[in-house]
Amino acid sequence: MVRMIKAAVAAMMTAMPITVMAAPVLDTPASSSSWWKDGRAALDGRIAAVNRPRRAKNVILMIGDGMGISTITAARIFDGQRPVDGRKPGPGEENSLAFERLPHTALVKTYNTDAQVPDSAGTASAMNTGVKTRIGVINFSDDQLASACKTPDKLPRTFAEIAKGQGMAVGVVTTTRITHATPAAVYGHVPSRNWEGADKAFPAADRAAGCADLASQLVGFAPGGGLDVVLGGGRSRFLPMAAGGSRDDGRDLTSEWRSRFPQGQYVSDAKGFRALDSKGRGPVLGLLNADHLNFETDRKSDEEPSLTEMARFAVARLASGAKARGGKGYYLMVEGGRIDHGHHASNPYRALRDAQEFSAAVAVVLASVNLDETLVLVTADHSHVLTIAGYPERGNDILGYIRSARDGEGDGNVSKEGWALDDHGQPMTTLSYANGPFQTRGLSRLLPPTDPNYLANKLHGTGSESHGGEDVALFADGPRSNLVGGVVEQNLIFHIMAEALGWR
Ligand SMILES: [Mg+2]
Ligand SMILES: [Zn+2]
Repeated sequence: MVRMIKAAVAAMMTAMPITVMAAPVLDTPASSSSWWKDGRAALDGRIAAVNRPRRAKNVILMIGDGMGISTITAARIFDGQRPVDGRKPGPGEENSLAFERLPHTALVKTYNTDAQVPDSAGTASAMNTGVKTRIGVINFSDDQLASACKTPDKLPRTFAEIAKGQGMAVGVVTTTRITHATPAAVYGHVPSRNWEGADKAFPAADRAAGCADLASQLVGFAPGGGLDVVLGGGRSRFLPMAAGGSRDDGRDLTSEWRSRFPQGQYVSDAKGFRALDSKGRGPVLGLLNADHLNFETDRKSDEEPSLTEMARFAVARLASGAKARGGKGYYLMVEGGRIDHGHHASNPYRALRDAQEFSAAVAVVLASVNLDETLVLVTADHSHVLTIAGYPERGNDILGYIRSARDGEGDGNVSKEGWALDDHGQPMTTLSYANGPFQTRGLSRLLPPTDPNYLANKLHGTGSESHGGEDVALFADGPRSNLVGGVVEQNLIFHIMAEALGWR
């Protein structure tokens, strides 16, 4: 029998026009090198990623607000030079942030329909609704005005609304106020991102148009019985003035939320947050600061959880309810929201420390999920005007003055400390901004540049450093992550997430 099969195979081989040869054994004198072994391990990882199933159960979208390409490069070096997880400090350039090891990447065009350089509202709308819109607008199409509040059925539907309609769970986690533009785009619709609560920023005339503020939209979010995990800051937008909040309509939205979800858990500090059961059931609302959570640089662990802690909890809690949902998965948006704020202050230390913490949160998420059933996307909504300049030598402190790698070539002015000098005889830092404030409370450009409170040099003085208009990066792994590639429009992110879940 075996002989007959062999004979048949031999006959087939002769009949085949192409010569079939055994694959060559890949063995060269370099095979024992660590470069070789690392290369093969990286290849195996990419093959595993290419061969993943095509259908996702869960989708996690992680957004570093303002984390443009120059921020990623600077944060990678910062993290290599100032590791916080027990690694030895290194030169930094060779380091990788957690999401930089993901197999699929694309460049993303971030402009809003009416703005070359975008904001977080328009960009988050593109990712959450599948269509671009105007700057400052959350989940309205670009031709809809405040009057559209009266016809909510005509507003673009959000990924979270559709997911809840499919029986999935939805979570939103951020270090900013939960009513700030990026997290608000998960659950809300407003023609102006400033309408976070019932306060001066939401004038009476606009309220009369029939629009609701974002805090009340969060608490009233209806599809599928409401949001499942909500963690962030912004408690003041939920409380009446009489209770120390900023609402002038007398409503206490935290007690409204508790009456709506008697089985839910509301927490307002680190202690309450850490007492939550990550395997528990029922919705969770954590409003962990009256305003934004603190920068990671300033955070006191006994007062506030880190982004990493919140992300780890959200993934575990959303996953634990899957059985009760008939195996239905979840959509989770996690935002490192204050990278952007560090940059607006032109304070590189706080921006990069928050980017480092965002990377730690990505690492925890990647370690917590099965990438054969969870699509993980990591991106930024827009960039900032941070530049990495001069010719600093390898391993130069990313925050420090430039110690030049160039020897006697060109601009040769060097201080006695070895710092490269500009035309005015001033030492230069590697990091600077195209614009930004010359003064900000508690921060100063007169400090040494490695001081956490140092304000980096800038070309134009403006009240706030601005966003940047160049493309941002998108990193992905999990089912259908191989659709991430090329140079794409930002609203494609919604469509990739929908395709991974099998929505048509
Ligand atoms: Mg944001
Ligand atoms: Zn910003």
